Amino acid sequence: MIVSMQKGATPEEIDAVVQRAHSLGMDVQLNWGTDKTVVAILGSNTGQLPTGTFAVLPGVEGTTRIMKPYKLSSRTFKPQDSTVSIAGVEVGGKRIVIMAGPCAVESKEQLMEAASIVKEAGASVLRGGAFKPRTSPFSFQGLKKAGLELLAEVRERFNMPIVTEVLSTLDVSQVAKYADALQIGARNMQNYALLSRAGKSKRPVLLKRGLSATVTEWLTAADYLLAENNDQVMLCERGIRTFEDSIRFSLDISSLPVIKRFSHLPVIVDPSHAAGHYAFVPAMAKAAIAAGADGLLIEVHPNPKEALVDGLQSLTPSDFTRLMQELKPLAEAVGRYI
Ligand code: PEP
Ligand code: MN
Repeated sequence: MIVSMQKGATPEEIDAVVQRAHSLGMDVQLNWGTDKTVVAILGSNTGQLPTGTFAVLPGVEGTTRIMKPYKLSSRTFKPQDSTVSIAGVEVGGKRIVIMAGPCAVESKEQLMEAASIVKEAGASVLRGGAFKPRTSPFSFQGLKKAGLELLAEVRERFNMPIVTEVLSTLDVSQVAKYADALQIGARNMQNYALLSRAGKSKRPVLLKRGLSATVTEWLTAADYLLAENNDQVMLCERGIRTFEDSIRFSLDISSLPVIKRFSHLPVIVDPSHAAGHYAFVPAMAKAAIAAGADGLLIEVHPNPKEALVDGLQSLTPSDFTRLMQELKPLAEAVGRYI
């Protein structure tokens, strides 16, 4: 249930709502809007609570039930768009943020070269995996701690924040020590223990959509992060599994306007993992910007033919540089910039 306070409600009036919720065994989260505060009443049986329980309290403007399974990620709780700061790079504002880099950190030379290319072309966040979720246990699993150290070194050298994936609850504190933002991969979207732990880290989190997850399941998963009082949450559409097999995953562009309507969270689009092939990435990146993406996550490798992971979908330096030029007028056409 959502309790909207009147404009100018006093801190005591807000506190009385919070205390009433606690006395009923409910949890709360507050959205301190610019002119109005909204209190979300959270618990498994808020549906049984009469709305009058809160409506009678002084300073309360009104009460609404959130009819969706997701609460904290919904616009009913927070009508204004959220922004996330990745070490000072704002996601969810006018600027479309480009996160780019190799699928996996492979070596110092490879990462340095990738960082220099993507920065030069206009990307503002470096993305590279130190822990890789591989379908087969016999595939390259990432450089792990050594990869994190390389990411940290390259961040200092190029003054670029880094986002990197965390696969397990056991690694969250280590990854959070090095990364400016944590990525939760598609295969872990419903790993609830990992979501809670990542939420507690207080690092910004990029939550990828599960391969077969509905938008509702995805936003409900985001609630696990937000429930830890971590409001630095970004969604990442990376394609879903459908009957279509001419492409790795079907990029669900329609999820963008749907999310923008029902949620306040920023959305990044990853055309690389949906495409599975470098030739399809540019068109899908452009479609994402046209559909309202707040950022893009693009795989770029200094030499894709030599890549240990996802070489086929990685852009070459020159393809990435060209794409960045092509994206700029598109961003302007939708009232944004890169
Ligand atoms: C990745 O970003 O490299 C990755 C493995 O992505 P996803 O979780 O979307 O498959
Ligand atoms: Mn990849």
